[in-house]
Amino acid sequence: MDINTKIDELKSELIEDTQKLIRIKSVKDEGSLNMPFGSGINDALLAVLNLGKKMGFRTKNVDGYMGYIEYGDGEEIAGVLGHLDVVPEGDGWNYPAYGAEIHDGKIYGRGTLDDKGPMIASLYALYALKETGFMPNKRIRILFGTDEENGCGEIDYYLKREEKFSIGFTPDGCFPIIFAEKGITFFNIVKEFSNDENRKLVYIKGGHRPNMVPDYCEFSINDSNTDSIVKKINDFAVKTGFDLKYELKDNSILVKSYGISAHGSTPEKGRNAVMQAVLLIQSLGICSGEIGDAIDFFADNIGIETNGRSFGVSLRDDVSGELSFNVGTIELKDNKISLGLNLRYPVTSSFEEMKKHFNDKIEGTGFRIENMQHQKPLYFPKDHKLIRILSEVYTEITGEKSELLAIGGGTYAKEMMNIVAFGPIFPGKPDLDHQANECIEIDDLIKITKIYALALKKLSV
Ligand SMILES: [Zn+2]
Repeated sequence: MDINTKIDELKSELIEDTQKLIRIKSVKDEGSLNMPFGSGINDALLAVLNLGKKMGFRTKNVDGYMGYIEYGDGEEIAGVLGHLDVVPEGDGWNYPAYGAEIHDGKIYGRGTLDDKGPMIASLYALYALKETGFMPNKRIRILFGTDEENGCGEIDYYLKREEKFSIGFTPDGCFPIIFAEKGITFFNIVKEFSNDENRKLVYIKGGHRPNMVPDYCEFSINDSNTDSIVKKINDFAVKTGFDLKYELKDNSILVKSYGISAHGSTPEKGRNAVMQAVLLIQSLGICSGEIGDAIDFFADNIGIETNGRSFGVSLRDDVSGELSFNVGTIELKDNKISLGLNLRYPVTSSFEEMKKHFNDKIEGTGFRIENMQHQKPLYFPKDHKLIRILSEVYTEITGEKSELLAIGGGTYAKEMMNIVAFGPIFPGKPDLDHQANECIEIDDLIKITKIYALALKKLSV
């Protein structure tokens, strides 16, 4: 029997097993022995491994950190990496978040798209291959992760004990293929000041996370000259169009800057409340000495730019575009100022190159870098075997051209060598990951199962 016919025949079982898995609330919780991420996630892991066993596959539970099902023989592994953990459901659902109810041809529930639905699709893709008599030349492994939403702590555990893939994909992004993901850094730049009795700027606080464009920032000024400051704030708001408000209390002024939030990978889509506040502070002329120098440094070298040009880090390439520069947080408290940054550099540049330009700029300013976190870029040339095969498969099943995507975000593909993100969200369809009313269209669930079956077939010969 042809694989696609087999998948059509398995449709109702595939839907039911997806529903069963959605009904397990696999949100991270306190861990215990062999359940490092809590019992909900562990229940989901045991459920898919049991399903794999029932389908006739070898299975292995890697101490509750990960688990896999495997088919065929061979030295190498063609693999699928996805995850069973989900983010908390949040509010605003029209149907129960763990009910897996079907309405208008869609299954609703947390994890239907991210990433349980696609993982059941991968499992059924392999089952259909087995049932139609396909024998691979590599082992095909479907690997279930359990901590993708909270830092991917499970992958290290797996890679220290188990084999890596020689080729494969993760169904945890979007179609057609994400072939380039920028290098990602998060860090703080920090400076301490000596005590200044006459300081007028009392504190600044803005932003929650480095990977978001902050939509709010406030600061407080101690100055008896309130009329003149208020006039300057109003003039500045008119001149720049920034959304600025203030409240007067005795001799102090509380100033509030409102921006527009956006993801840290696309800072140009937001309006940065922190940098609006910094530019305002500079224009008020209330800071002198070391704090004045720090404010001038931020205002002159960052401002509202989101590509790092004035900072001297404006790397770019034709594959993935410009470096993105996001100021996510600011805190001025007592005698210390700290800025939380998220810089994402193009795939053909390097961390060392970015860091060198960055250090050149802060040299001699008294600023230092703290808490550096770094994730390398991911990039496969267009003529790479993996990209060629997945492109062919996508076009064969959908009839659509396979446009390659470069992104600033980081997918699960970065955690494992030799894989890319391939599905499950089709072009033009809404990205409902982490949103209320997350759902998957049943027709899409079947289509992605067919895509993954053909992909596993071609990757494993
Ligand atoms: Zn995911």
